[in-house]
Amino acid sequence: MDFEAAYLNYAAARQEKMLLRVLKESEPLGQGKLRRDGRVLINFAGNDYLGLSHHPALIAAAKRYAEAFGTGSAASRLVTGNLSCFSEIEEKLAAGKGKEAALILAAGYQTNLTVLAALADKDVLGRKVTILADRLIHNSLLQGALLSGARLARFHHNDLAHLETLLARESENAVIIVSESVFGMDGDVADLAALGALAKRFGAMLYIDEAHATGLFGKNGFGLAADCPDLVDIVMGTFGKALGSFGSYIACSKAARDFLVQRCGGLVYSTALPPQVLGSIAAAIDLVPTLEAERAHLETLSQRLREGLVALGFDCGASATQIVPVIIGDEARAMAMVAALEEQGFLAAAIRPPTVPQGTARLRLSLSAAHQTEDIDAFLSVMAGLQ
Ligand code: PMP
Repeated sequence: MDFEAAYLNYAAARQEKMLLRVLKESEPLGQGKLRRDGRVLINFAGNDYLGLSHHPALIAAAKRYAEAFGTGSAASRLVTGNLSCFSEIEEKLAAGKGKEAALILAAGYQTNLTVLAALADKDVLGRKVTILADRLIHNSLLQGALLSGARLARFHHNDLAHLETLLARESENAVIIVSESVFGMDGDVADLAALGALAKRFGAMLYIDEAHATGLFGKNGFGLAADCPDLVDIVMGTFGKALGSFGSYIACSKAARDFLVQRCGGLVYSTALPPQVLGSIAAAIDLVPTLEAERAHLETLSQRLREGLVALGFDCGASATQIVPVIIGDEARAMAMVAALEEQGFLAAAIRPPTVPQGTARLRLSLSAAHQTEDIDAFLSVMAGLQ
């Protein structure tokens, strides 16, 4: 078997369809900017929604923790990697989320994969398991559902009537409903209270990914599930976006946390987050409740961007957050617009199928509280020339 020829063929086919993925180098500069190919660009493609990745308190805590405990944790939390600050941060997270307990894990991708697989284990639950997932969930949730071996069915995006129809067919099985609270590619929001009420009515578990909401929405910025903690059984979120660091967490009941410590491969078999990362998470968690002005600024910027784009005739879908898609449809046109924007000093991401449904290729604009009103206005005037 000529493995290399197969891989080269695959890349060539992607190249031909203009779908080749390329790792480009970036140098983050803070203040919503980065340097790429020697040029400073306004960064509308990252997820540093509060600008915390350059906050002095996070940097100082990261240095302090590295100096005190070293740069690597050297083992799983179940062996020797469980620094005392894990439980301090978890207690604050659980309180912020309004849940009994929290558990810190590594990358959010790994968490969705391994937590969902553990929770949906039919041998533990003693019944067949069905996962009912929103059509637009992130790849990590989809892969977790597949890894679990549960039956998987998808409901139309944010369509509770469709979900109810699917739930009604599942009376024999254990059911886990999976959604995001703020959708990462569309910037729209799920109705968690309604999802939770439906889950309760059918005896289902509700699993919500708050990767794009943590730090930004809900009580004290702790995510939308913090506004209805009793209705959401398992809340997942990440530290790599608005919290300016890396890693992820689950907030849930004490029973679910204790079970995950037994069975979640991403916790049991993976090296604990390193001390400097824990330092920056600890600092970010303390800052989150104090960042009301930053959240209000981000909301004002997002609204200004959406209104400006819609006035120019662009389609921003159902965005209601800091994530603003500009739905173009045609993939080549979306790519050409991203290139033209970069020429003018703005970095936007082109998102194409299969990451988003066919026919909905788009620019994904993501704003940060580190951006200024002038950045939005300058961007809108460039967009006016690209209609
Ligand atoms: N869930 C969602 C909704 C995401 O958008 C992402 C990251 N793009 C993840 C999970 C994965 O988190 P991480 O980047 O920490 O692996």
